Amino acid sequence: MALASKPAAAAKAAHTDVATLSVVAPIYNEAVNLPALWERLSAVLRKLDRDWEVIFVDDGSTDGSLNFLRELARREPRVKVVELARNFGQHSAILAGFRESRGEIVITLDADLQNPPEEIPRLLEAIDQGNDVVGGWRTERHDKFYRRWASRLHNKITSLIVGVPMHDYGCMLRAYRRHIVDTVVKCDEKAAFIPALAASFAKHVAEIPVAHDQRAAGESKYNFRGLAKLSLNLITGFSLAPIQLVSMIGLAIFVVDTAFAGFLAIHRILYGPQQEGAVWTLFAVLFFFIGFLFLALGLIGEYVGRIYQEVRHRPTYIVRTVYQNGLEHKDCSESGT
Ligand code: UDP
Ligand code: MG
Repeated sequence: MALASKPAAAAKAAHTDVATLSVVAPIYNEAVNLPALWERLSAVLRKLDRDWEVIFVDDGSTDGSLNFLRELARREPRVKVVELARNFGQHSAILAGFRESRGEIVITLDADLQNPPEEIPRLLEAIDQGNDVVGGWRTERHDKFYRRWASRLHNKITSLIVGVPMHDYGCMLRAYRRHIVDTVVKCDEKAAFIPALAASFAKHVAEIPVAHDQRAAGESKYNFRGLAKLSLNLITGFSLAPIQLVSMIGLAIFVVDTAFAGFLAIHRILYGPQQEGAVWTLFAVLFFFIGFLFLALGLIGEYVGRIYQEVRHRPTYIVRTVYQNGLEHKDCSESGT
């Protein structure tokens, strides 16, 4: 019997020695990839000696993804499909999947087959060794060069901010223990970056090298703007350090600038008005300040924006329907309920 159709406690009782597994995959217009994904994923899971379920979260797809998934849920008791009311973004979709999951271990993976499902047993092995979180590390990435470069910087910053050094925070092929998943769900954070949030709650974290393939079909759902948004969310979501740094730089510039102004005043008293060339120096200084002010304003805006999102109390995601065992639960639930 499928794990998904039993309450968590009953599932636990049936398998006291081997932890049960939930796989969560967010889906946004992946109809072309879904048949191959299910074929490969289910082949791997059937070979495991443990109870499992797969939760596909349809993140507002407008292609045939939801039809395929509904049909799959009808004939596969181990498949649960969560249909979101619209496109809420990859990380919110994973949150919705986390909330519906029942396994003692939860694995996330992308639906485009960039994360090979065949790596799942190795993640489980690392979890069974006592880790709370196991991250995949794409040692050979198949992404555009600017993505690889940005990702390197991103991982350095994230490691610093979260305080948990990892090579690859962007890899979504990851495994989490139940208590981590429950804590992440409880946070119900808007604009969450799940790998970083989860790592911040874990005591034992491991990273294992995993393969990374080209996207099987279709296009990446992230453009440059989407990636930049994700990175800013991550940075401002974890610490006040950036804004504090800006304040300190602002203070230092103010002190230096006061000294510089004093020097100019004294220079004028002693030697009279400056030569024409000095105007350009002033221009340069002015532009520097304008640049800095814009940077500071932007950062403040980021934080104010986050506060705004939280105080609005809007749901992170809205579930429209859950399909399982040929049944449809139509109660529209929201995050945080
Ligand atoms: N995805 C999603 N909602 C979105 C964008 C993406 O659920 O708004 C899913 C997508 O279907 C895929 C995963 O998140 O399963 C990763 O997306 P993608 O492959 O486009 O990102 P990339 O690999 O380029 O970072
Ligand atoms: Mg991808």
